[in-house]
Amino acid sequence: MAFISSGYNPEKPMEGRITDIGPHKYDEYFPPVIKKNFGKWLYHEILEPGVLMHVAESGDKVYTVRVGGTRTMSITNIREICDIADKYCGGYVRWTTRNNIEFMVEDEATMKALRDDLNSRKFDGGSYKFPVGGTGAGVSNMVHTQGWVHCHTPATDASGPVKCVMDTVFEEFKNMRLPAPVRIALACCINMCGAVHCSDIGLVGIHRKPPMIDHQWADKLCEIPLAVAACPTAAVRPTKVDYNGEKVNSVAIKQDRCMYCGNCYTMCPALPISDGEGDGIAIMVGGKVSNRITMPKFSKVVVGYIPNEPPRWPTLTKTVKHILDVYAANANKYERLGDWANRIGWESFFKLTGLKFTHHLIDDFRDPAYYTWRQSTQFKF
Ligand code: SF4
Ligand code: SF4
Repeated sequence: MAFISSGYNPEKPMEGRITDIGPHKYDEYFPPVIKKNFGKWLYHEILEPGVLMHVAESGDKVYTVRVGGTRTMSITNIREICDIADKYCGGYVRWTTRNNIEFMVEDEATMKALRDDLNSRKFDGGSYKFPVGGTGAGVSNMVHTQGWVHCHTPATDASGPVKCVMDTVFEEFKNMRLPAPVRIALACCINMCGAVHCSDIGLVGIHRKPPMIDHQWADKLCEIPLAVAACPTAAVRPTKVDYNGEKVNSVAIKQDRCMYCGNCYTMCPALPISDGEGDGIAIMVGGKVSNRITMPKFSKVVVGYIPNEPPRWPTLTKTVKHILDVYAANANKYERLGDWANRIGWESFFKLTGLKFTHHLIDDFRDPAYYTWRQSTQFKF
């Protein structure tokens, strides 16, 4: 397409420049019923999966219909969301912290028409565009990352595996029959953008081979001390190497100290690490962020490695579904996955799930590793 100026003048880049204006104020887009009853809500009910009702002191009611969102979406898709909001909600709509979409209306009849309309819309391939659900004790949307769509450090994809896992657990998105909500999150590398470290089930992309070293470019592209300081196990050191008869500054990596975190690549483009067969996904479970009954928890690694199997990641989805099913069948009401595993003991978690306990799962990172071992004779055979 031919160039069309927005009015910005590259000759005078600072002229007419607007800066530091921040986001629009949050209440600018409040539906009228929300604006009127702000801070005066009395109680709420989950009427059915995906549908909430809030009642205010004034007696006003607001019905919320929550639908799954793919997070990565086209303007066309967003326009369709806007059309629906125009038709039923006076043009108002909101997104949740798990990237679901919520439509709000003031009466039950409109809520039902809206809900049925949303559930009826499908893509040409057959997938629901706006499946209603995601409330109460079920599986809501998966918080996820960029993957092969946009990032340069991933060990796996994000959108792909998320679609596969959500297809597999779709019934739990549409229902509220689990002991407690199960949060599933995915990060495509151990930077763990998002929530994998504090989710009931966390999926994280991992490497299994040390970085390659591009000696020709290391000193030209990288601030070598940063690459050295990037390593959590001090596997990286500065060195001089012969490159085509020329002495160049570069780095050396002690392979038996490297655990393939990829942090040095984040600092230094000359240390690429991704590998088709080496890379895969680790599964963590038992994290949570709420303070309900028990304190917030980190998730723990329970499966060291599952290969990347695009486009459907069958081993991954099967394992996630299995963990979810065993939890659902065994946990008490209100027990999050981590609460359940802690109560029955992790040896019982492995016994019930049949997951293989490997030496990879035993913490060996610095002094704190010791506290993850068992200083007690209390365990179950
Ligand atoms: S988790 Fe890693 S690979 Fe994924 S978006 Fe974040 S930094 Fe990039
Ligand atoms: S990948 Fe991680 S552990 Fe390995 S050398 Fe780089 S920073 Fe160190």
